[in-house]
Amino acid sequence: MTQRPTPVLRGEERAYFDRARERELVYQRCRTCDATQWYPRVVCIRCSGTDLELTAASGNGTIHSFTTLYRAGHPSRAADVPYTMVLVDLVEGVRVFGELVDVPPAAARIGLPVEVGFQDVTDDLTLPVFRPKGGAIDAR
Ligand SMILES: [Zn+2]
Repeated sequence: MTQRPTPVLRGEERAYFDRARERELVYQRCRTCDATQWYPRVVCIRCSGTDLELTAASGNGTIHSFTTLYRAGHPSRAADVPYTMVLVDLVEGVRVFGELVDVPPAAARIGLPVEVGFQDVTDDLTLPVFRPKGGAIDAR
């Protein structure tokens, strides 16, 4: 089995994944202009300021868009197909990306209410994932 690739964690992403390992989804807020952004960056995407703080999200949102992969994006995911990747609009107004779990591909839909969950990939890497609010949707 091919090992799943993992990122080399440095500055902003290290802090992001440390919080994910603690079962917390975070995004950045700019202390200068109050803009929010995800994923973590060195500068604010609105004002280019560098006074950014990590803010905990509720993890609740709705699916903005999705795509289902029937061919694995990497050989390590071959046994997982089909799987669905989603853009989620969090209630905090931030759009984030992740995998949709507990939903068969045919039941994925724009507007589906979701909540964050966490998937341990390695001892050092935990990924936020999204599952339907109210529980798993059975395949039909
Ligand atoms: Zn800013």
